[in-house]
Amino acid sequence: MARVVVLGAGISGHTAALHLRRLLDPRHEVVVVSPNSQWNWIPSNIWVGVGWMKAQQVTFPLRPVYDKHGIDFRQAKAVALHPEGDATTVKGFVDVVYTDPARSGEVQGIEYDFLVNATGPKLNFGATPGLGPDGHSLSVCTYGHAEQAAAALAEVIRKLKAGQRQTLVIGVGHGTCTCEGAAFEYTFNVEHELRAAGVRDRAEVIYLTNEYELGDFGVGGLTFKQSGFVTSSKLWTESLFKERGVKSIVRAHVQKVEEGRLSYETLDGVEDTLDFDFAMLLPPFRGQDLQAFDREGADITAEVFAPNGFLKVDADYTPKPVEEWKASDWPSTYVSPRYPNVFGVGIAFAPPHPISTPRKAPNGTVISPAPPRTGMPSGLMGRAVAQSIADMIKTGSSVPTHHASMAEMGAACVASAGAGFTTGTAASMTMYPVVPDYDRFPGYGRSLTETTGEIGLAGHWMKHLLHHMFIYKAKGRPGWSMIPE
Ligand SMILES: Cc1cc2nc3c(=O)[nH]c(=O)nc-3n(C[C@H](O)[C@H](O)[C@H](O)COP(=O)(O)OP(=O)(O)OC[C@H]3O[C@@H](n4cnc5c(N)ncnc54)[C@H](O)[C@@H]3O)c2cc1C
Repeated sequence: MARVVVLGAGISGHTAALHLRRLLDPRHEVVVVSPNSQWNWIPSNIWVGVGWMKAQQVTFPLRPVYDKHGIDFRQAKAVALHPEGDATTVKGFVDVVYTDPARSGEVQGIEYDFLVNATGPKLNFGATPGLGPDGHSLSVCTYGHAEQAAAALAEVIRKLKAGQRQTLVIGVGHGTCTCEGAAFEYTFNVEHELRAAGVRDRAEVIYLTNEYELGDFGVGGLTFKQSGFVTSSKLWTESLFKERGVKSIVRAHVQKVEEGRLSYETLDGVEDTLDFDFAMLLPPFRGQDLQAFDREGADITAEVFAPNGFLKVDADYTPKPVEEWKASDWPSTYVSPRYPNVFGVGIAFAPPHPISTPRKAPNGTVISPAPPRTGMPSGLMGRAVAQSIADMIKTGSSVPTHHASMAEMGAACVASAGAGFTTGTAASMTMYPVVPDYDRFPGYGRSLTETTGEIGLAGHWMKHLLHHMFIYKAKGRPGWSMIPE
């Protein structure tokens, strides 16, 4: 009998747990450790953040799903890994602290044969003074944050209706942020709501980003063929900003956020301030605060995790200049190089380097996006690792059998630009591969035909359909495994 412990019940961890349960016979245990009792379809938090959906529409309780599927759910957060065991056991184990109200604060060591770290991002609001809901800006990263943002937006709309002018700043709150696609979505959803409320003329909407140019999205931008012409996400995004009258500040790092005012610097070394009535600024991400110890109890955190807190996996972490980046630098099995039974998937794995070109201001401030690990790649990694672990348990092999490199997979992303069954729009993008491979695709690094971009009402319907489809899948309803990640 083997026990697989999955840390995290988000897109990658939940996917891995459901597939593990499907692939392994009931003699083997699948344990999920996650601090929140709810599953959250995070992409739809954007719609919660404008009041178009309620938090209950983007969440559901995990326990009934896990009970139905025979998965052991521990509502707890992992705090430390002991991959070599300790003086009392040779088995690896993980220390968890219960958040389950019935066992709150209780500490337990859970032994495992295989461990999947799928703990996602720590929302690092602390990187920028005053950033975040505990400071002076809003967020849509969790459904709770998104509800707060919706209430603040309703207040802004009330003031606009009363004839007051309002400035809304939406974007990223640090030079090293990722997830620009989410900030872009929220910008255009807010803009759409302001128009729908008939108050757009009194509102200034500003998108503030660390991207070198609009349309970068942390993947170095997209180039694709449309109507026989080669075009780019820059052109396409800029025209949307123009059409909707949204201003932009690019190449920016937010230095601090105060009540109604933020300070920022740009890549050319200029420093400035911006006054606002409403600011939704995403935080930078880092790994959760997990520690690691060897058998003797010595702290090996720095060997198991990268300095940004993400788990080191089978990537090539040798520092190298952009010109020497290779598709093969990216991991494909997500196994720890030190422990063949420990894996890191989704946002929790340490990428070898960014995808967008890294840039620094003259004073050394890094102002360029970190690489995104969006929903589809996170799900694909979760499934591949589940398949590998199931094979390893069945055959006794110590080598993972499944691969899901971001340099070999495509990804589809539908970025909502306003919700509504007849008035909604969304930007639908596909890219292949996610990480450019200049050996296979000289020139642009990606296929010009399998990389696409389209904006329109159909995209909104698609996004809405995906919302229902992925929640159905995550609930493990009949046929769930047929729905692609
Ligand atoms: C506002 C927003 C909108 C987005 N929109 C899109 C989109 O439209 N399309 C898209 O593809 N992607 C989108 N993304 C990105 C997408 O949400 C992520 O790619 C995806 O959630 C990553 O999955 P994950 O499993 O790595 O992390 P998560 O889904 O964040 O899951 C992490 C899990 O780990 C748990 N956890 C945290 N700490 C611990 C601990 N110590 N121990 C155990 N468990 C822990 C968490 O509670 C959570 O269950 C969006 C992101 C944001 C913030």
